Amino acid sequence: MKNPMPTVWTLLVSYLFMHGFTAQRVNYNGYKVLRVLPRNEEQLTLLQDIILKGKEIDVWRAPSAVNSTVDLNLSPNSFENIVSELEASGIYSKVLIDDVQQAIYNQQLIENKHVSVMQGDDFDYGKYHTLEEINDWVQSMAMKYKTITTIFNITNSYEGRPMLGLKISSQSEIERKGFWIEGGIHAREWIAPATVIYMAGYILDHYKSDPQMNSLLDMFDWYIVPVVNPDGYEYTWSKDRMWRKTRSRHGVCIGVDPNRNWDMEWCKSGASKDPCSDDYCGPFAFSEVEVKGVADYIMTQTKNITGFIDFHSYSQLWMTPWGYTKELPPDFKQQDEGAMETCAALQRVNGTKYEHGSIANIIYIASGSSADWTYAKAGIKYSYGVELRDTGKYGFLLPSDQIIPSGEETLRGLVALAKFIYNNK
Ligand SMILES: [Zn+2]
Repeated sequence: MKNPMPTVWTLLVSYLFMHGFTAQRVNYNGYKVLRVLPRNEEQLTLLQDIILKGKEIDVWRAPSAVNSTVDLNLSPNSFENIVSELEASGIYSKVLIDDVQQAIYNQQLIENKHVSVMQGDDFDYGKYHTLEEINDWVQSMAMKYKTITTIFNITNSYEGRPMLGLKISSQSEIERKGFWIEGGIHAREWIAPATVIYMAGYILDHYKSDPQMNSLLDMFDWYIVPVVNPDGYEYTWSKDRMWRKTRSRHGVCIGVDPNRNWDMEWCKSGASKDPCSDDYCGPFAFSEVEVKGVADYIMTQTKNITGFIDFHSYSQLWMTPWGYTKELPPDFKQQDEGAMETCAALQRVNGTKYEHGSIANIIYIASGSSADWTYAKAGIKYSYGVELRDTGKYGFLLPSDQIIPSGEETLRGLVALAKFIYNNK
């Protein structure tokens, strides 16, 4: 029989394959990342339809607008199908990553050289680290800089892992506002925790020698959480490098998109109600203990936070609210001005170009995201979502030799932003 209807079994196998239920590490042999460019409304609708109906499609960069690129990680089977569908519709596409498994090896090949126990001065900021190593680093930094640093645990994750953060607060008596920085809400976006860790480490190691670091501590108290989705992050190391969500169980599939789970216009648009989707909003707002944990911590354990950055990858975007609508919030002009100055300072370091604008206008509509909630509900005027390097050459598989350049440029951007916020509270 030609083209048999998919049986429950084949559907199940395909879900298991895509969603990482397998006991072994998920293998991406022969997978390719395809960049697609819809050039008119008709092509955009067609492409959205193809993605919705397709199987074994891992969306790296979702469709949003005409002339905005879409990146899809495709299994060998789906690659053939999708490419012929696109060709038939006259939609432009090209291969970005020819062999995803090879790119995973390439990224981790260098990792294998690293020593597993690294503490304090031995910590290698130019490598990606496991959750355990990151938590060891947090502990050792809190010890090493105990006069200005305290360690905090937001809560334990769904699977019981701690969510550790560092509060850095200068000993001077001046009243300061708070600044929250977090990474790793999406598990596979490894450059986010790595960049956050680099910046925190640099601030602590140089606050006495680098006047810009000193000024950061004069202006704000810093709350820094490298990995806000520890279960997902751990899973990207042990089982599936491409895992994005949390690891909670709410239905037939595992995990919720923690950046669609915040209680602000929750699951209105740009989020999915399908538990198997990568942008599943969850059964209810704040269903994820990690997301609820951060929200509760910000509301009850901090005061006067005025800056918030949730680091992601990739696309090189410094984004402001709103995510849920293309309309702009009342503080947009100042928020965007801050982003503009940040991007300019960031670019001066290595020439890396970032764009700035509101989430819904610059990338896509996403409701229930962190920056919308921190701005609207926690009153953090300068709330940002940031997409770090790159623009797609490596995507989530950014080689580790880009960690330090990313950290250096983002830190100088952060200095500019902190100054802007300090002067425009
Ligand atoms: Zn993300």
